[in-house]
Amino acid sequence: MCGIIGYIGTENAVPIILDGLKRLEYRGYDSSGIAVMNRNGFEVAKQKGRLSSLENLIRQKPITGYMGIGHTRWATHGEPSDINSHPHLGNQNKIAIVHNGIIENYKQIKERLEQKGINFVSQTDSEVIAQLAEYYHTGDIIETIIKTANALEGSYALGIMCLDEPDKLVAIKKDNPLIVGVSEHGNFIASDVPAVLAHTNRVYYLDDKEIAVLSKDKVEFY
Ligand code: GLU
Repeated sequence: MCGIIGYIGTENAVPIILDGLKRLEYRGYDSSGIAVMNRNGFEVAKQKGRLSSLENLIRQKPITGYMGIGHTRWATHGEPSDINSHPHLGNQNKIAIVHNGIIENYKQIKERLEQKGINFVSQTDSEVIAQLAEYYHTGDIIETIIKTANALEGSYALGIMCLDEPDKLVAIKKDNPLIVGVSEHGNFIASDVPAVLAHTNRVYYLDDKEIAVLSKDKVEFY
């Protein structure tokens, strides 16, 4: 087990996500990371080890944005390392994801994409999700997520950001928990309720293959 938290709203996502990750620590982890989206694209901080190491890293090299995704990893594919830590991005830095779970057919997907010239940087199963989503991406993020999810076998809870859609945070899950939280200042996804309780107790449990699209002031379900 391990954790995901994502935020889109009117506040800086970084302290909110760091606090949420601390509240998910009880689930166990070996590494952690955050990606935010801002005018420069994605900014990522990720590291093997305790959350305090991630906090130090961000203190030395601050990142900031109104939308972000955070992750605590319990490695299943690929050793605990900075590179294998989530979030993972596609080759063109257009899509960033965090993933809890196991992609059982990742080898086949990876081989297929490598044959098309796509380079992988990590040993994780999760990176195929970012690379495949970028490969499929035609401009419509929902369509992209549906196509990507249909190609995945295994379990997942996913938080997804796409540079082409800077005001949307997207989530989908299968056989792994994910909730949506709605607050006055913004909206959340998380593995579990305690991660968002400091901000809201209005939560919704996502069903398998249900897609949530969060903006700063609304949530839509597909
Ligand atoms: N299977 C993925 C990995 O090893 C995700 C593990 C997790 O759920 O934290 O990186």
